[in-house]
Amino acid sequence: LFGEVPQATPVAVFKLSNDFKDDPNPMKVNLGVGAYRTDEGQPWVLPVVKKVEKLIVADNRLNHEYLPILGLPEFRSSASKIALGEDSPAIQENRVGAVQCLGGTGALKMGAEFLRRWYNGNDNMKTPVYVSAPTWENHNSVFANAGFKDVRPYKYWDAEKRGLDLAGFLGDLETAPKHSIFVLHACAHNPTGTDPTHVEWMQVAEVMERRKLFVFFDSAYQGFASGCLDKDAWAVRYFVTQGFEMFCAQSFSKNFGLYNERVGNLTIVARDADNVRRVLSQMEKIVRVTWSNPPSQGARLVAITLNTAELFAEWKDNVKTMADRVLLMRASLQAKLQALGTPGTWDHITQQIGMFSFTGLNRVYTHTHTHTHTHLLSHHIRCCYCLLSVLLPGDSLYLYVQYQSN
Ligand code: PMP
Repeated sequence: LFGEVPQATPVAVFKLSNDFKDDPNPMKVNLGVGAYRTDEGQPWVLPVVKKVEKLIVADNRLNHEYLPILGLPEFRSSASKIALGEDSPAIQENRVGAVQCLGGTGALKMGAEFLRRWYNGNDNMKTPVYVSAPTWENHNSVFANAGFKDVRPYKYWDAEKRGLDLAGFLGDLETAPKHSIFVLHACAHNPTGTDPTHVEWMQVAEVMERRKLFVFFDSAYQGFASGCLDKDAWAVRYFVTQGFEMFCAQSFSKNFGLYNERVGNLTIVARDADNVRRVLSQMEKIVRVTWSNPPSQGARLVAITLNTAELFAEWKDNVKTMADRVLLMRASLQAKLQALGTPGTWDHITQQIGMFSFTGLNRVYTHTHTHTHTHLLSHHIRCCYCLLSVLLPGDSLYLYVQYQSN
């Protein structure tokens, strides 16, 4: 029956984590998966999460009944509120809706499925979807799998100057067909760690408004980039103030450390309450045939935290702890490279933000080092493989580096 099924290629980042686990080398370091680690190299369960988990277990009123199709109402509204801001004009005008989704991926999927069916006329699989070059690899597949036939890259990264290619980005916005969908990273761009400045975002918004392009934010790292939720949501909120109708896929995997609970939210900003109501009614149909209704544990945890003043404050503090450590790691790496007199400039290590770093090293450079790593597949390396082999000369290091295809 299944004799003709071809073997699919493994998902690179998960394959790498499995290889890492199986490797007995005590010197191994996993630089692939985007998950926070402590000084001891261990996952961190946020103290606020542990606290709220205890509250949930102790609460006799809770049960395991199905949630509504669109999810836990107090989760959806509080999640949208941290994306758009307490005083968001769109929230005040009652033109924001939300769908609880399975992680940020689920939120992107739900948005993509809806847009393919209903945006810009019925079943518009030909509408171009633009994703940044490079981007988190799943963006391409999520939109293609939702039925979009034309998923294209837009210019984003300037390899030469190791920074944003603003002219290229704006140029692609200018020439995109009207109504094209643009997936924008809200902050801490994955994988380049390079975001537009406020002024650059304003330029992007101006073109998108004028050319009638659809804004689909992917917000997977709110709080993680700067340690401040409001700062990291600046771009999303700016677009709302400019009157855009838009989607924002939110993930709570990183900023709550709830990777395996699959907590996400799709925030919808529309023209008025009536539009939101009709959009949500169609979203409900899509959820029903996809996961029917979402799981409750992670969403409860996030909702209780966001809706309780002391817990909210504690969470913000926990997020800052993570963000500060990431910043410290960047500064330490840069300082060590400079102290060792490593050729080249390393300012980009600290200029980039979030979990990821584009080293700017190419394949030729990496192959001049002696190391035993076998997973180096491309010259697009987003982690510090060779930087670390410079730091620890002579050691036989196995570093697990995520392969990033373009
Ligand atoms: N978008 C981006 C840019 C990401 O980096 C990630 C996670 N690596 C996601 C979305 C998906 O997040 P989740 O694990 O919550 O599905």
